[in-house]
Amino acid sequence: MAEILVTGGSGLVGASLRKFLPDAVYLSSKDGDLTREQDAAAIFDEHQPRAIIHLAARVGGIMANIAEPVKFLNDNILLNTHVLENCRRLGVERVIALLSTCVYPDEAEHYPMSEDDLHSGMPTPTNFGYGYAKRLLAVQMKTYREQYGVSWNYLIPSNLYGENDHFDETAHFVPALIAKIIQAKRAGSDSITLFGDGTPLRQFLYVDDLSRVILHWLGTGVDADVNVATPENFSIREIAEIAVKACDAEGLRINFDASKPNGQFRKDVSIERLIEVMPDFRPTPLAEGIRKTYDEVYDKIADNAG
Ligand code: NAP
Repeated sequence: MAEILVTGGSGLVGASLRKFLPDAVYLSSKDGDLTREQDAAAIFDEHQPRAIIHLAARVGGIMANIAEPVKFLNDNILLNTHVLENCRRLGVERVIALLSTCVYPDEAEHYPMSEDDLHSGMPTPTNFGYGYAKRLLAVQMKTYREQYGVSWNYLIPSNLYGENDHFDETAHFVPALIAKIIQAKRAGSDSITLFGDGTPLRQFLYVDDLSRVILHWLGTGVDADVNVATPENFSIREIAEIAVKACDAEGLRINFDASKPNGQFRKDVSIERLIEVMPDFRPTPLAEGIRKTYDEVYDKIADNAG
């Protein structure tokens, strides 16, 4: 019998959470495909959890979302539905699930956006299926709360990064940037090239900061659905400059390939409600988080670069 079960435990967030919560059971898709009703029921019957941290999701970059929007919509609706319905069936007391700030409206009337803005406009077109599936998870959790009086909440993290990220061709912006800096240092190159024109704004949160918030939600039973982000909202160009400095690569020139897409221009969110619950929440400054990540992954990436 598991006290706490973590779905999607083999990913970036799961690897971070494991450091803080080593005794939970961490699942991956190898333990069962949560888009399949029978697999989900078997997992819950086997573990009989008291609490669930629901991280599993079909996630992907812009190109994958454009190529297969049906998969991103349907898989996420299916796996969220199976997880929540099994939690109801077995009377799981506490559920904490994750949305993402990239499911907020493509354009808002004001920034930073608050939790009340979640449904106020369409998600960015390159995130359409994923965006609506994740928004539906918020709707599902609210309706379960209303009908069954359960203590289930969701958190809405901004873009994340950390040492257990993907640093290959599927990498998100920050891990790809760190990998490019390490490879350039190894090769003795004097420049790196990044996609887009460098103007979009992003809040990048060090993943361990999110883990601390998840633990607080789990431990205290606080009843709130909140954004989890850093107030640092830098342009892509500024982030690249911070990273170059943090990785001791000053002098490395940053070029932009403006023929490649920028993605959503901005999606910054307010963390006022999080701070009401956790007044001492101090997100890791970007320069520090990038340095920690760089130190952890340097050898692996440098070795691969030959
Ligand atoms: P990740 O590294 O891509 O990991 C995804 C996890 O979900 C893996 O453990 C994967 O298992 C599992 N999974 C995927 N499809 C599954 C299925 N059909 N059945 C069972 N398990 C399945 O993701 P992450 O970055 O840790 O993200 C965790 C959560 O945070 C997600 O809900 C995501 O939407 C949210 N989030 C992430 C970010 C970010 O920047 N990374 C930002 C905001 C929100 P395998 O390893 O076996 O494939």
